[in-house]
Parts: sequence; C-alpha cells; structure tokens
Amino acid sequence: TRTLVLDGVSKQFDTGTVALEDVDLTVGAGDFVSVVGPSGCGKSTLLRLASGLDAATTGSIEVNAHSTSYVFQEATLLEWRSALKNVELVGELSGGLRSERRAKAQEALDLVGLTGFEKQHPRQLSGGMRMRVSIARALVADPDLALFDEPFGALDEITRLHMQTELQKLFRLKEFAGLFITHSVSEAVYLSTRVLVMSGRPGRIVADIPIPWSYPRP
Ligand code: ADP
Ligand code: ADP
Repeated sequence: TRTLVLDGVSKQFDTGTVALEDVDLTVGAGDFVSVVGPSGCGKSTLLRLASGLDAATTGSIEVNAHSTSYVFQEATLLEWRSALKNVELVGELSGGLRSERRAKAQEALDLVGLTGFEKQHPRQLSGGMRMRVSIARALVADPDLALFDEPFGALDEITRLHMQTELQKLFRLKEFAGLFITHSVSEAVYLSTRVLVMSGRPGRIVADIPIPWSYPRP
C-alpha cells in the first residue's frame, strides 16, 4: 500500500517564506521513515502537510489511510482525565462498545509499559510516562499512518532509549506507515527502515537512505 504519496510538493507561507520545494515522497505500510535535518529545513511543515493540518501550495498529496495519528513533541493530554480515559477518548469519538474501548485502551497502555498506572492523572505521571500515554492514545485507533514530530525531544536520555525500544516493538507489531522527525541521527538509524535527510531553505529531500539491517519483517 502506498499510504502517503507526495508528488512535487512545495509550500509557501503567507509571509513569503518557502518552507518546502519540490518534495517527492512515498511512504508505504511497513515503512518507518525518519526525517533528519537542521532546524528550519521544513520537517514540521512536511508532517503538517502529510496530516492535512496544512495545505500544499503546489503539487499533490495522496493519503490512503483510514486513520492518521499525530504525536506532538509535548504530550497533549487532558489533565482532568486519567491515563486510561485519555487513551479511551479516541474510541469515544468513533463510537462502539464501552467494554471494547476500555479493553483496547488497556491493551495500548500495557504495550507502552504503563500497566498499573491507568487511574493516574497526567500531572501524577513523569514526563516519560506522559509521552507514553500520548503514544498509546495515538496507536489505540490502529492508524494506518502515524506521524511523530520529535516526540522524544523533551525526554531525558534514559527514558528516550526506553521509548525507542517500545516504539520499535509497537511498530513491528502494528506495521503502520510512519513518519518520524528527530534531531538524533542515531535514533533515526535505530528506529527506521529509511532515513530521509532534508536540507536547505527552502527545504528539500537531499537523501533517502534505506536501513536494511534495522529489523526483519515478520
Ligand atoms: P523544521 O521543522 O525543520 O525546523 P519548519 O517546517 O518548522 O522547519 O519551518 C520551515 C520554514 O518555514 C522556517 O523558515 C519557518 O520559519 C517557516 N515557517 C514554519 N511555519 C510557518 C508559518 N506558519 N508561517 C510562516 N513561516 C513558517
Ligand atoms: P522519567 O520520565 O522521570 O525519566 P519514566 O517515565 O521512565 O521516568 O519513569 C521511571 C519510573 O519511575 C517508572 O517506571 C515508574 O516506576 C516510576 N514513576 C515515575 N513517576 C511515577 C509516579 N507518578 N507514580 C509512581 N511511579 C512513578
């Protein structure tokens, strides 16, 4: 499946800044693509266009996904809801049985290593744990396309290493199409099946590197 296809995409903001120029990119199911490059080269813009949060100026963007999830740099949780209820929220929007929603949310929290923390509210959790709730919430809907804007950027290094391992496990299990911004080249190589290198102003993709040894497909 060609889950995400960008063809000749450019983006110019109202301010006149051209953030992206002539970007061609295909991300399929089972591709976990990291995006690295200096600040201002258009990584976040690329992600926002892929998510539909923003529109391209020229070129075409095709998304063949039933659902898309977006994970921001900071965990964006509802403070008045418990961890479990934050994850359940996604199911509430799409309907279905309450018991099933709860079971799926519980499974997602288990997957990110938060068994036992279901009833805690966000402020009772550490930064790493909040990010894990955020990721559980993003993945509970079984998205075909998951977009990550530097989700581990604010974490301390130990938590970050832990989260890299967790995310890799989740990806192997779920086989979605992933686009993952990071400032860490080692994180990109460790996590991904491909690393995109962006550069310049306006930003362009200057390299698209397959990482064949990252992990065997099941
Ligand atoms: P990166 O994520 O690689 O740091 P961005 O995609 O955030 O880069 O930004 C790319 C360029 O577009 C930068 O020059 C930035 O200042 C500009 N830019 C980003 N968002 C906007 C916006 N909403 N309005 C105007 N310029 C923007
Ligand atoms: P941090 O983000 O602070 O580096 P982690 O998210 O990796 O930490 O959590 C480290 C461990 O600390 C967790 O596995 C958990 O056992 C414990 N912990 C952190 N916050 C809490 C809390 N609010 N209540 C109970 N245990 C916690």
